[in-house]
Amino acid sequence: MPVNLSELPVTTHGRVMLKISGEALMGDQGYGLHPPTVARIAQEVKTVHDLGVEICMVIGGGNIFRGLQGSAQGMERTTADYMGMLATVMNALAMQAALEALKIHTRVISAIPMDQVCEPYIRRRAVRHLEKKRVCIFAAGTGNPYFTTDTAATLRANEMACEAIFKGTKVDGVYDKDPNKFADAKRYDTVTYDEVLQKHLGVMDASAIALARDNNLPIIVFSLDEPGGFCGILAGRGTYTKVHG
Ligand code: UDP
Repeated sequence: MPVNLSELPVTTHGRVMLKISGEALMGDQGYGLHPPTVARIAQEVKTVHDLGVEICMVIGGGNIFRGLQGSAQGMERTTADYMGMLATVMNALAMQAALEALKIHTRVISAIPMDQVCEPYIRRRAVRHLEKKRVCIFAAGTGNPYFTTDTAATLRANEMACEAIFKGTKVDGVYDKDPNKFADAKRYDTVTYDEVLQKHLGVMDASAIALARDNNLPIIVFSLDEPGGFCGILAGRGTYTKVHG
């Protein structure tokens, strides 16, 4: 039964981008992939997919490698960034496996061609996959060093004409300060792109926020730790912050 689109807080034709960090896949471990956590997130994606929503995903690589971390240890920055991009491909393959275990057709689409492993990014082909209700996981970031997967998610969301980016985090929205450290932290129901940039609210990096702002793409920040959270937000339930113009 397709979702009643008029009930969705942000959607009109039902195509969304889900951005999660690599760290979301590592569970309580300090590094790498935690298969039960990957399976749990795949289940969250399935409940939304079952509503008929077309789903794009971008997964970070921070659970394996971040470019800045490598360059801080003396590695040349661009090489370190390519390693970070490759880490996102591993995460994307893990999520593909978890989704396919739930019988959801999925394509991993890489900004860096590696034909034996996954598809190269071809925009029209990706759109066709979405129309056929395949989940598209965009891997290898933008394919360029000095960017992050937040920017990749914003770029692909624009290219795929997504209604919004859903940024799944550990907290249920954007706060004025870290809610894990400050009991009096205040959650925003809505916040503008400019406020996020001026107050350094840490939703996404500045290039991603600017790209979203320039294309009027809403960002919904919600908790991925809440079971049923992704589906609930799409149905207009639960708490979240909407970043808008
Ligand atoms: N990266 C990059 N270009 C991109 C996307 C990612 O160079 O377009 C590299 C960068 O080194 C980054 C790493 O890939 O640190 C992992 O991505 P990110 O830090 O965004 O992962 P997350 O924090 O979301 O897990």
